[in-house]
Amino acid sequence: MIRDPNAPLPDPEETLVPRVFLREPGWKVGMKVGSEREFCHAIAPGDDAYHRLSDGELFVYSPEEKLCLPCAERRGLLHFEPKRLRNSMQTFEMGGPAQAGDTFKIVDPDDE
Ligand SMILES: [Zn+2]
Repeated sequence: MIRDPNAPLPDPEETLVPRVFLREPGWKVGMKVGSEREFCHAIAPGDDAYHRLSDGELFVYSPEEKLCLPCAERRGLLHFEPKRLRNSMQTFEMGGPAQAGDTFKIVDPDDE
């Protein structure tokens, strides 16, 4: 059931699903629809056969294969952090006061 987006969550911290990113060239996200038999193209650890994709299941696919999300994650296709900007901003370290009465100073790491 879809939750009312305006209803407060029981616990806003509680979710099993992180933000998921797929950046591998040639891979896309799909959703299995219907009861036609389709299989994940990877065998999960501990299993000895390919497992079925279920109706409504999200998966990733390339021209060669389809993978359920857990298998895609094991393959290293999924990422859970947004891509960092290429030119990161220059960072400064804040040096705390060494002794009582000292003031904070900004330390440029390049000057050290
Ligand atoms: Zn799988």
